[in-house]
Amino acid sequence: MPCITFDDLQHADTRHAVQVADRVWWVGHEQENDIFQCHVYLIERGDQSVLLDPGSMLTFRHTLRKIEEIIPFNHIRYFVCHHQDPDITSALPLIDQIIGRDDAVLVTHWRTKMLIKHYGLRLPFWLVEEHDWKLPLEDRNVEFVFTPYAHFPGAICTFDPVSQVLFSSDIFGGLTPEFALVAQDERYFEAMRPFHEHYMPSRDILGYALRAIERHPIRMIAPQHGSIIPEHLVSSMINKLKTLDCGLYLIARGDTDIQKLSQLNQTLRDITQTMLVYRDFRDIAGSLLDITRRVLPAVSLEFYARLDERRVLHLAPESRYRGIEVESPAAVTRILDLDRKQWGELNTIGVVEFMLAQDGDETPTLTLPLFSPDKGTAQAVTIVKLVEPVIANEELRQIIEQMSVPLQVAVEREVIYRQLDMERQRIYERSIRDPLTGLFTRIYMQEVVQRLFDIQDRSPGNGLAVLMLDIDHFKHINDSYGHNQGDVVLRRVAVEILDTARGSDIPVRLGGEEFAIFVAGDVVSQITPFSERLRAQIASIRFDAPMLARTVTVSIGVAVRQPLETLLDLIQRADAALYEAKNNGRNRVCRAAAELI
Ligand code: GH3
Ligand code: MG
Ligand code: MG
Repeated sequence: MPCITFDDLQHADTRHAVQVADRVWWVGHEQENDIFQCHVYLIERGDQSVLLDPGSMLTFRHTLRKIEEIIPFNHIRYFVCHHQDPDITSALPLIDQIIGRDDAVLVTHWRTKMLIKHYGLRLPFWLVEEHDWKLPLEDRNVEFVFTPYAHFPGAICTFDPVSQVLFSSDIFGGLTPEFALVAQDERYFEAMRPFHEHYMPSRDILGYALRAIERHPIRMIAPQHGSIIPEHLVSSMINKLKTLDCGLYLIARGDTDIQKLSQLNQTLRDITQTMLVYRDFRDIAGSLLDITRRVLPAVSLEFYARLDERRVLHLAPESRYRGIEVESPAAVTRILDLDRKQWGELNTIGVVEFMLAQDGDETPTLTLPLFSPDKGTAQAVTIVKLVEPVIANEELRQIIEQMSVPLQVAVEREVIYRQLDMERQRIYERSIRDPLTGLFTRIYMQEVVQRLFDIQDRSPGNGLAVLMLDIDHFKHINDSYGHNQGDVVLRRVAVEILDTARGSDIPVRLGGEEFAIFVAGDVVSQITPFSERLRAQIASIRFDAPMLARTVTVSIGVAVRQPLETLLDLIQRADAALYEAKNNGRNRVCRAAAELI
């Protein structure tokens, strides 16, 4: 048996039948200016020969001539139709007339028969599912692979276990600008891509067919369109098809330019991929800009997304897409909350030429409202700054419209992240800052002061002291002037504490009218004068009415931390000193005894 090499196929003379495997022949015809070449194959088994996808009326006379180069036409007993399309079946009425043998049959699936029977042929049907999906030839069983809905309900493929050729019909078909009997390299996938994206109903269905096909030990794929896939490309083409998303023809609307749609599909896929892969909006925006540049001379992308009535989140390259809350610019406010119809009316000159009015800004921009699926109104706006104005055409309009859904999702997601972030920040702030006075809370004190203690324990040279401070007769202030006025006093005392404290000090509202200030550094000599100063300052606060004549005083207990002393012990000592200050007449500073020992 002659061994047919890749080289033989590449240089085959397609004016004649071409042997592609042992006793397997290509008997198609090279149609000029047809990116959709239809191939016909012959498995030659003497007078039991098989013709696969007999073909179109455009090419059949050439097919007939090529068959006759190998065998008399009436040696063909089996005519396999993988599905029902005219490029496979329109020659059947002619075949029916010239076949000249009684045992010839039309091999197909019952669902295909439902349609082919309308040719009114004499040729009887031989249904694959009635024969266990196998066609017995003298030395082999040719096997049929059910590949339903790819792309017709009853579609099948044929596998010849001796030559190990898969006659794949539409699957693995390609749209090749120039005739090439055999695929040269991996680039053949790009020829398959648009054909499959728009022809195969969905990835799941194609995936099912590919898995069924894969069960066979395939050495060559002979599709009905495009090029034959030689052994070294078989597995990579199968694998690439497995990950191809298809069935997106749904977005094609009236457009039938398959290359253009393919580009659109790719763009949409890339956008989706971008959003799946990247978490950081800066990366998303960078990738989206690259994608946008495929269709527009874009300089930059920025977004405004509604936060509340007046405010929007501005995501722009200047702020590295950090997301800044700003007042909504007038040009954005005008668009937010419009529904699609209203936007259409406003945007009379077409999406693309709509200019965002910005004072003195001559940059041509494309404004793209992003409509919220919930509300049906624009809740965000994309601004594409352009190098030069672009002319709106249907294709661009369609691409932009298609991009707006994923963009909307990306921006909405970012707004949610930002809001969560802000909420987290607010919760955190609340947990560390007392809302009335702005001083730190007891919770925060426990966390931070312990760290100060650790530092001091490692290098004992650093001093650390606490002032416990309690407003004198505060209950009386509340009782005399009311609780609100009590709050005013608390806030005012807190201001004094903040003014007196250094940046490194930790002023805390422990609760009620009790405060603590942790002071680090050279404290032993400084702490009493510091406390005195604070006490005097509070005592000299002048309040407005109704407390015009009233002074507020505080008592202060001071304790300097002993080596390895716990927070609890330190506070207890300071508290004891405070108690002493109260007992000794209030409005004074007392220092805890322990450190004096
Ligand atoms: P002393 O000089 O012994 O400290 O007397 P005092 O009246 O200041 O002490 P006491 O602890 O008896 O009273 C504290 C009062 O502070 C009781 C409580 O109602 C009031 N208080 C606690 N928290 C707040 C607050 O947030 N706002 C106001 N206005 N009052 C508060
Ligand atoms: Mg008090
Ligand atoms: Mg008190």
